[in-house]
Amino acid sequence: MSGYHAKLDDKRFTNWIKTCIAIDIFRAYVETFVYKEIEKFHSSILETIANENKTKSNIYCSECRTANVLDCKTNNFCTFKHGKCSNHFPPEHTSRSCPKNICNRIKYFILKCHDFNSPTWQNTSAEKWCYSAWELAKCYMPKGGYFEKQSPAETDLNGIISVMLNNSNISGTIDKSNCEEIRGYCNSLRHTSNFYVVDQKLAMFLDMLVSFLENSPAFHNDKKAKEAIKEIKEVRAEEFKITVPDVTRVIQKSIQEERIQCSKDIAKESKDYIEELQKLRSEIETIATKSINEIISEKHKAIEKITSTASLQVSAGKDEIVKATKDARTEIESFVKGTNTQLRERLRKDLLDWNKSKHNEIPITPLFDDTEVPITDFYVRPQLVSVERQSYGSVWKRNENTHQFITRRFL
Ligand SMILES: [Zn+2]
Ligand SMILES: [Zn+2]
Repeated sequence: MSGYHAKLDDKRFTNWIKTCIAIDIFRAYVETFVYKEIEKFHSSILETIANENKTKSNIYCSECRTANVLDCKTNNFCTFKHGKCSNHFPPEHTSRSCPKNICNRIKYFILKCHDFNSPTWQNTSAEKWCYSAWELAKCYMPKGGYFEKQSPAETDLNGIISVMLNNSNISGTIDKSNCEEIRGYCNSLRHTSNFYVVDQKLAMFLDMLVSFLENSPAFHNDKKAKEAIKEIKEVRAEEFKITVPDVTRVIQKSIQEERIQCSKDIAKESKDYIEELQKLRSEIETIATKSINEIISEKHKAIEKITSTASLQVSAGKDEIVKATKDARTEIESFVKGTNTQLRERLRKDLLDWNKSKHNEIPITPLFDDTEVPITDFYVRPQLVSVERQSYGSVWKRNENTHQFITRRFL
């Protein structure tokens, strides 16, 4: 049996799948939530700037690069080589004011709404700030891997959670502590090379997700949040059915997440992780059965059948052993009995032979005790005569020598 088939029978692997399904449900919900919030944030900024500039017709600028709107030595943007900032060079990249007084104001609001006053400027492109809300969201994500991402769908969960945690418009409406725990757990799960999650960890993580969605004020009156909570609770149930499409989808998403995370400079361990996931996916795709629960159920049935057959065979074996033992005992008893009879007969014969050899001589005369001759030499056969009654007082007598009958008067 392949190692991947064996995984399907391991509860820790199904726990890992359940964990990924729960993350999937959670991600689908928070992705939509964050995108809506960032769109509101973006619209609000543009509206404010329009009001400040007293115009509603020209609140768009695509002339300013990020370097133009930032002063040199800005944290999370400038990189120096030989004492020179590579991001503020050549001259067209130097810091300057936006000709429309838009980009510098957007920069101000991005910075103002960062909980730690440290937006990740290198993730974003100021030329797109007026047109794409997600360019603003990327300023609240960690460094690296997000510059090319144009939408929530292209962004990993870590990036989306970071927006919730760092953008003050959102972070003030959620349970931050719980959100940080979820991010930590998801990151640790990414490098679980054996794809196993024990029961306690699964229960703890699902509780964490449910608690976050139930306790964050932002989701209190949200119908979609309640649906997500319900779905996550269903995943927790023992009877929750995992289908093969579920498994392949979860694995495919894990591969995508890993690629998103390491799109530029893929570390060796990430490559190994992706390769393992790809092997696992192709192995599982060959399984025709729809439900993992069915696979497990079938395996348990097969085990029961084998156990039952083995039990019957053992029982039949026992009967055979009992019968063979009985037959053997009978044979042994018969052999012993036969042997006794033979031994007894042989003893009798030996005694007779011994008697014949030791007691078959007698002395010729009492005068010479030591002169003995075989007893058979002394034996004289008696002369036997048969008589036949002929009439009263006479008998026929057969002469032994002539074999003729003579008449004798019976005295
Ligand atoms: Zn610089
Ligand atoms: Zn501008």
